[in-house]
Amino acid sequence: MMAMTENKTRSQQLIELEEKHGAHNYHPLPVVLEKGEGVFVWDVEGKKYYDFLSAYSAVNQGHCHPKITQALIEQSQKLALTSRAFHNNCLGEYEKFITSYFGYDKVLPMNSGAEGVETALKMARKWGYEKKGIPANEAKIIVCESNFHGRTINIISFSADQDARNNFGPFTPGYISIPYNNTTALAEALKDKNVAAFMVEPIQGEAGVMVPDEGYLKKVAELCKAAHVLFIADEIQTGIARTGRLLACDWENVRPDVLILGKALSGGVYPVSAVLADDEIMMCIQPGQHGSTYGGNPIACKVAIAALEVVVDEKLAERANYMGEILRRELNNIKSDMLTLVRGKGLLNAIIIKEKNGKTAWDVCLKLAENGLLAKPTHGDIIRFAPPLVINEEQIMECAAIIKRTLLSFE
Ligand SMILES: *Cc1c(COP(=O)(O)O)cnc(C)c1O
Repeated sequence: MMAMTENKTRSQQLIELEEKHGAHNYHPLPVVLEKGEGVFVWDVEGKKYYDFLSAYSAVNQGHCHPKITQALIEQSQKLALTSRAFHNNCLGEYEKFITSYFGYDKVLPMNSGAEGVETALKMARKWGYEKKGIPANEAKIIVCESNFHGRTINIISFSADQDARNNFGPFTPGYISIPYNNTTALAEALKDKNVAAFMVEPIQGEAGVMVPDEGYLKKVAELCKAAHVLFIADEIQTGIARTGRLLACDWENVRPDVLILGKALSGGVYPVSAVLADDEIMMCIQPGQHGSTYGGNPIACKVAIAALEVVVDEKLAERANYMGEILRRELNNIKSDMLTLVRGKGLLNAIIIKEKNGKTAWDVCLKLAENGLLAKPTHGDIIRFAPPLVINEEQIMECAAIIKRTLLSFE
């Protein structure tokens, strides 16, 4: 008992340290983690948890995957950064690898997801002027309501989230927002001849795992093609096997003109993002027109190759598909008034929680943590369930049991 009191103090101390010295731009669950391996993380008191967030799907390959961390260690001891002022011996190998892996002519390497999105938007505008012939400064890009594409001023300019926008104006013009999962609205918006691109998440992750109707992406691709407009897929969260296919777009056999990847592209060990496109789009960008000091650095290249190899070696897409079916089946069998809906694809899932006796999704997450499973509420009443894709059947059954036990404890 003594030890526990002492340890609790350590967690509390570390949380207070953050509160005192760090910006308050997040509201984390009160858990302080210090170790991760596969599907598990451990807090500073030594308590073990299933990680059901996977750093917003960055850790698809599992925490500290040995093959990926090895790539990081080896390359960091040899050559970490050259900038793009010089060539390095890893970049070409990586570019060849990732373009053949996803089937595009070219890649443009960046670091964070938001940078990948910015890159795609800049490319789309440039293509719009130079290939489509949109008059100068008139290009428009269509996006969807309740999107999440990152946190830069430009990106929040087309966000509908008031917290993300409030008092951050003035905003960047040139965006048209339409309802998600609505091809009629898209067809209407595409009538504008100055539209260069439509950017969409194949499943809206941050919005609470909004899965569009079957056929939506296929129709989107058709409409964009007919209107001579680029179809940009933000697969930063849905890509790299998360939904049970390599890309969520693969579910409908559609190939976006521009593909944005991030998060699990490095398996969670390093910030790596990428934009993939064919020459007719990518070659609109010439030297000096876009870049990043760290983009395409040797460590990122080696780490991303290793991370993508793990996805194939360990059949993570098939695994996510199979484990996701089991998880949703088990969740749907839980009889609790608090659990009103289960949705998702592969291992990108969410449940909707109805408040009961003043207890909300936040309270459910606190109780889940107590019971050894970490998940985070979003939009007040949604809890995302997205474990690392390396989870096995026995573990997923144990997790479903934890979730059930937790929900029933509120009855
Ligand atoms: C996380 C995310 C981003 C932003 O990525 P950062 O690395 O946080 O900048 C963009 N789009 C989607 C769909 C995301 O899930």
